[in-house]
Formats: sequence, structure tokens, C-alpha cells
Amino acid sequence: MLEIRNLRATVAGEEILKGLNLSVKPGEVHAIMGPNGSGKSTLTNVLSGRDGYAITGGEALFEGQDLSALEPEERAHAGLFLAFQYPVEIPGVSNLEFLKASLEATRKAQGKEPWDAVTLLRQARETCKQVDLDPQFLKRGVNEGFSGGEKKRNEIMQMLLLQPKLALLDETDSGLDIDALQVVARGVNSLRSPDRAIVLVTHYQRLLDYIVPDYVHVLANGRILKSGGKELALELEQRGYGWLTGEEEASA
Ligand code: ADP
Ligand code: MG
Ligand code: MG
Repeated sequence: MLEIRNLRATVAGEEILKGLNLSVKPGEVHAIMGPNGSGKSTLTNVLSGRDGYAITGGEALFEGQDLSALEPEERAHAGLFLAFQYPVEIPGVSNLEFLKASLEATRKAQGKEPWDAVTLLRQARETCKQVDLDPQFLKRGVNEGFSGGEKKRNEIMQMLLLQPKLALLDETDSGLDIDALQVVARGVNSLRSPDRAIVLVTHYQRLLDYIVPDYVHVLANGRILKSGGKELALELEQRGYGWLTGEEEASA
């Protein structure tokens, strides 16, 4: 589903990803952990096609398609969902309008009929409830004045409506209280299926108590340094990253 081979990427002229390899198959949940500044968000941004992030070597294939040949919207329509560490605010565009546009384009790309207005509203309201978000949020500007937790719930709500093939979530757990964390985990777990895959970028083992990954990877200095099963996350929690990166101070 996602095949990343020897990927190199620069941000502001500096090489941040330095030959990264990652292979994700349908049905799998992968967690990516790693010290601050190791390139985790850069990877998310590169895969989403964000301005300023340039691929300088290697490749990233999504269902065999070279992602760098697709516009960001085309990536989304192909079934890639990316949730950012810092979600953007879009004042003036309501959450519902935004969802309508995303859903129409995505369903069209998948050869499905668009939802009529009544169905859209019903589905959106139900999905809001699923993530404990007041349906009134549908009328507000996208992420405008949302608290950190509300932004994350909103992202999970979008994801559940869009039903992506591959969801990539960057620190969806950061700054969440336990209730919000469980909402996020429930949402992500409900998306798990043999034909979908999920990649979670997280700093903390805690989220992985709720979303149990099949694989855990350590990203440090622009590369995957180590991969293992869910027990690797527990080991990192105890030992930090220093034993892997060769630094004295573990920076968990
Ligand atoms: P992580 O998410 O693992 O904490 P990031 O991918 O955010 O790390 O950052 C990796 C490195 O790339 C850092 O040194 C960071 O300062 C740099 N970087 C990321 N984005 C930018 C940017 N837009 N401009 C300049 N440097 C950046
Ligand atoms: Mg960081
Ligand atoms: Mg980050």
C-alpha cells in the first residue's frame, strides 16, 4: 500500500530525510516514534506534498503510484488521509462545507455517487457524536478557535467520514486528556480493517496501549534506525532513544 524506498528530502535547503525505508501493507498499523527533530513531521509533510518539502532522492509509492507525481488533493482523493501535528485553520469556510467538498471529490475519485445534503448532514452529525464533538462544530470555520483537543476530535471525525485507505496521523495524541485520547483511539480502531492501513506518529507509549500497533519503528536522524513489534515501544519508554542513536542522554 505504501512503499517508501531510500527517501531523501530537504526542508529549507537542509537534508532532513536521509534514506528512509518503510513498507506498509493493507490491514497493518505502524507506529513511528523517535526523538524530537528526527524528521517525523517532515515525513508526514513530504507524503502530503506540502510546499517547501522537496524530495531529492528515492521514492514514495502509494498503491504503486509515485506520490510526487500527484497534487496534494489528488493524494487525498486517492485515499490518503493526513492529520497534522498542527492542523490549519481555514476561517470563513465552515467545517460542513469543507467536508462536503472533500467527500464529493473523494467519492467521485472512488467511482461512488455523492451524498445528497440530507445524507451528508446526517452522517456528519452522527460522526460528530462518535467523537464526542458537538454537531454545532459543523457550522464553525474549519479549526477556527478550536482547542487542541477539539482540533484532534475534528480530524478524527473527518477521517471517519472519508474512510481513507491509508491514514497517517502525526502526534494526534499530543496535548490530549485521557478522554480525548480514548476518543481518538476508538476512532482509529474503528477504521482498522484488512483493506486499510494506519501510520501513527507518536511520542508516547500511552497511545499505543489503546491502539496496539503491528509494527513500531524508530526514526532518528532522518532514517528508520530500528523496527520491531509493539514491545519495542515499551522498551523505548524505559530506555529512551540514546541506546539507539548513540547519544549519552536519552531523549524520550
Ligand atoms: P519531528 O517531527 O521528528 O520532531 P521535524 O520533522 O518537525 O521533526 O523536524 C526535523 C528537522 O527539520 C528539525 O531540525 C526542524 O527544525 C527542521 N524543519 C522542519 N520543518 C522545517 C521548516 N519548515 N523550515 C526549516 N526547518 C524545518
Ligand atoms: Mg516534534
Ligand atoms: Mg513532529
